[in-house]
Amino acid sequence: MISGFISEKVHPVQLLRYLPAHRVLICLHCHYAIQPGAIVRHLKEIHHLKRLRRREFVEYASQFELADIDSIILPDETQFPVDSLPIHDGLACRFEGCGHLCATIQRMKAHWSSVHHLSRRSDGDWCSVPLQTFFRGNALRYFTNPALLASSTDSPEEAMSTTEESPITTITTPDLDEAQGLSSLVAYENNISLSVENMHLFDHYMQHTYKTISCGPETENVFRIIVPQLAAKFPFLLHGMLACSALHLASSNPLNKRSYMLQAIQHQDQALPAFHLATMHVDSNNCQAILSYAFFLVVYGLSSESEDETLLLGNRQTSSSSNWISLLRNGCSMLCNVWSELKHGPLAPFAALWRDDIGVTADANDPLLVSLLSAISESSEAAASIQRLSGNDVHIYRDAALKLAGAFEFTRRFGASLSVWDALNSWLTQVLPEYFDLLDQNHPGALLLLAHYAILLKPLQTEWFLNGRVTKLMDEIGQRLEGNCSLHIWKLFLIARREFLSL
Ligand SMILES: [Zn+2]
Ligand SMILES: [Zn+2]
Repeated sequence: MISGFISEKVHPVQLLRYLPAHRVLICLHCHYAIQPGAIVRHLKEIHHLKRLRRREFVEYASQFELADIDSIILPDETQFPVDSLPIHDGLACRFEGCGHLCATIQRMKAHWSSVHHLSRRSDGDWCSVPLQTFFRGNALRYFTNPALLASSTDSPEEAMSTTEESPITTITTPDLDEAQGLSSLVAYENNISLSVENMHLFDHYMQHTYKTISCGPETENVFRIIVPQLAAKFPFLLHGMLACSALHLASSNPLNKRSYMLQAIQHQDQALPAFHLATMHVDSNNCQAILSYAFFLVVYGLSSESEDETLLLGNRQTSSSSNWISLLRNGCSMLCNVWSELKHGPLAPFAALWRDDIGVTADANDPLLVSLLSAISESSEAAASIQRLSGNDVHIYRDAALKLAGAFEFTRRFGASLSVWDALNSWLTQVLPEYFDLLDQNHPGALLLLAHYAILLKPLQTEWFLNGRVTKLMDEIGQRLEGNCSLHIWKLFLIARREFLSL
């Protein structure tokens, strides 16, 4: 519920985007199109906007002519993927002339038996395609790149190779707007020419931003030399870079903050669909750009999450930062096939920052670990029920606590040279995915661990992209825990907060 709230400062342009080619209005917060006639309800029920505030959004929306759901013009092959909409893994039926799309194998099997009255014949009955939909709910209708569909009913051999290659072509073929912006982008000799606005962002990145996100001369070289070269070939990386630069400018220019934030959002919206698509077809051609983009994604996630959400405690389903944590966690596993290539290529300094295993195990007598584990060992059965700690929760908690103690040991070695990448990778990317489920449920144990993680992050909050946000996180954890946890957990939290404040 809370997740739908829109900050007071958000302008209609930041929430609603009209796509003239399809005549739909996308909610940039929800990442889907709002049905014509349902705009007021959407603003009221999803985003809880009061009548007075709603008016400016409704007025803004009323200038656009929206197509009926049934008469929407779907994207042609130059328009796919559509900006601002997520991309899902999907399947296309390859029965001649059919082209039915769905999201699961189960549904495709059902389609084959009910429509084609056949059970699965061979491996070539359907193929993987990226899917998007303008609407959710009963108006959900998937579409894909029509070029993939056209080829999917051709001869199987041809179709297979097309489905493997076409998405990559889609990514590297910028759409018209982009083509204008990037037409003369020539990476060689750093001779890059963009629109005035984008040029400004690009300059700022090349002069300032890259330094602020580097850690040491090696990564600095990659951010300064290699990333811009890759960005010339991969528009999503260029957009990610410019989004990051715009956020950096927003953080240091209060007067133009809004305009820079808007530019950042626009670039990020252009970057994400193509990035998603690329991650579905990782190969040696695009893996470097994907890994580089992950860094911009994190900076974007950390800094833009501040606007109306608390760091790491935003709702992951609708978070404006598009689940950057899970993208980050999955991103690295998506790259596992090309990891050794990355480790030995020009991006080796980046690859070195993402370790599968941080190689540190906390000592069983580590005071932090002992204290964290006391939160579950004190729970007799009665206490367990109060804390809602099932056996599995205990396992998740113990695992996260062990890794947290290891992370403290790991980060201690860096001292003042600790980078945000080390801090994130030391724990956030290592805990079990179920930990985040516990966090979503405001589980006291999960919040207690996060409070300790905040201690580890605190030295970094002077970085522009964290800008005081870790302190806010600690306050928020306190508010959520107070009166909602056992006395013991509360005491442990108070100790952690005292340590945090003394830093
Ligand atoms: Zn919305
Ligand atoms: Zn079919």
